Amino acid sequence: MAEAAVSSASYDVVIIGGGPGGYNAAIRAGQLGLRAACIEMRDTLGGTCLNVGCMPSKALLHASELYEMAGKGFAGLGIEVSPKLNLAQMMDQKSESVTALTKGIEFLFKKNKVDWVRGRGRIAGPGQVEVTAADGAVSTLTAKNIVIATGSEPTPLPGVAFEDGKVVDSTGALSLPAVPKHLIVVGAGIIGLELGSVWRRLGAQVTVVEFLDRISPGMDADLAKAFQRTLTKQGMAFKLGSKVTAARSTKDGVELTVEPAAGGAAETLKGDVVLVAIGRRPYTEGLGLESVGVAPDKRGFLDNDHFRTSADGVWVIGDVTHGPMLAHKAEEDAVAVIELIAGKAGHVDYNLVPSVVYSSPEVAWVGQTEEQLKAAGVAYKVGKFPFSANSRAKINHETDGFAKVLADAATDRILGVHIMGPQAGEMIGEACVAMAFGGSSEDVARICHPHPTRSEAVKQAAMGVEGWTMQA
Ligand code: FAD
Repeated sequence: MAEAAVSSASYDVVIIGGGPGGYNAAIRAGQLGLRAACIEMRDTLGGTCLNVGCMPSKALLHASELYEMAGKGFAGLGIEVSPKLNLAQMMDQKSESVTALTKGIEFLFKKNKVDWVRGRGRIAGPGQVEVTAADGAVSTLTAKNIVIATGSEPTPLPGVAFEDGKVVDSTGALSLPAVPKHLIVVGAGIIGLELGSVWRRLGAQVTVVEFLDRISPGMDADLAKAFQRTLTKQGMAFKLGSKVTAARSTKDGVELTVEPAAGGAAETLKGDVVLVAIGRRPYTEGLGLESVGVAPDKRGFLDNDHFRTSADGVWVIGDVTHGPMLAHKAEEDAVAVIELIAGKAGHVDYNLVPSVVYSSPEVAWVGQTEEQLKAAGVAYKVGKFPFSANSRAKINHETDGFAKVLADAATDRILGVHIMGPQAGEMIGEACVAMAFGGSSEDVARICHPHPTRSEAVKQAAMGVEGWTMQA
């Protein structure tokens, strides 16, 4: 492992943070022959995503989905089993997968001659980064370019303090020692709904409290309505238009004070675990930004112009700057910033960053929602196709949901694709490619898709834009 024992060393690029932004930037720098170091203060590489985000949550979503299917879905297929939950084993397999993934990044660092400098990085002035190791040893790296990739952290809820095992953030909810009887999730965003789904499938009663009068802000409203119906059918309860104003720890759990967002009488909700999932905020603690004259904006994000901060030679990528707080966005930022540093062209189109909720069925989308198009006064056409009319979905008894294609009324260019259905997250890739190539709905409609696959629903929705859907 190219783990550097540096007291002073000089680099073309020093990256602070070893998450999807930081590690991809470091690897790309190595590939382009730049001398690169990545500073990470965790014991493992991979950042939020690999350690306490995307990957452990998907491990639990996968296992809990199979558990629920085995209990409720298999019998109808003629498979009779009585599943028994072994939560410790479920958590162990999650941790093993995470370890394999983080070790994989170490291997890629070695392969691409990237130095991993363990410790907390602090910018000490132009071209200078000081690293404090866990044992207190301090070293200084000299860098022609500094890339800030320090990511984000859970946003706390005012009046509701985190408390081990009782009031938890997403990290705590990924490692609960037992299935809660009643889990209250505060926030109906992607993380809250995914982790709420995990624990509901494993046997918890789950209530989601959301300030807005809808779930999943950012999701097309049509899709969000259908999604909420599905989650409700699965047993999740929702309290929309409600705000949590206080929490009181009791002997067996937590009592939350919940008020209507628009004002009115408060009520008490009792749960044994509360998951606060109201969003994430950029993380720049102790980063020494003042030493290069960079200041975060009002919400704590670092501004950028093509990944350049206001300081010469200091760049920023990933969750800590603007754009969707997603791992694949951070990865695209990473490649672009290093290519710019290397004198190449680097660019990311944030309109083409897809979003996925890894629920069952999955929800995925890319581009504009109907609400955004209406607000922008864009004339558009809609093609929609239900999975209940898709032969593969039908045969697999996975008929919930639909695919929807939005296309410019004048040019037919695809403006947005929205899918709720089995493996929607895999299907959305096709829409991203079509849109990146400036594709029209007719392009997708006339491209041969394999039969029988769920992806035919996307083709049929594209055909629907011009009204020639055939399988409805
Ligand atoms: P991070 O991954 O946060 O990495 C930043 C790293 O910098 C951290 O490891 C931190 O320790 C380190 N660091 C910070 N400051 C310093 C310092 N001064 N010195 C040294 N090191 C420092 N995104 C998806 O795209 N798909 C998903 O399915 C998904 N699921 C998620 C599920 C959960 C539960 C959560 C919490 C997040 C999920 N995300 C998902 C979001 C995703 O994890 C983030 O968007 C992504 O990790 C951002 O990458 P990043 O490199 O910008 O920051």
